[in-house]
Amino acid sequence: MITRLRRSKSWHRNADKAGADTPCAVCGQGIRTSRVWVWITGGGDNIQTLDEHRDIAGDMGFHPVGPSCAAKPWIRPYLITHPHKP
Ligand SMILES: [Zn+2]
Repeated sequence: MITRLRRSKSWHRNADKAGADTPCAVCGQGIRTSRVWVWITGGGDNIQTLDEHRDIAGDMGFHPVGPSCAAKPWIRPYLITHPHKP
């Protein structure tokens, strides 16, 4: 499966304030301890599941998602609990 990464419009502003923490892939707010990740592809436009190999050329790697964003229904099927490739 593959879908568009629906980044918050305030992603850059929030990421600038994240400091040493890693910005959430969706909202940009800092995450101190990452627990779930998404695989970002399409040069940053998409997220996809590990069994989907289309668009792999735009592989941007794994990025963490904070708890509130991880609860959103559209992203739940794409969450990865261990950030490694099969
Ligand atoms: Zn977030």
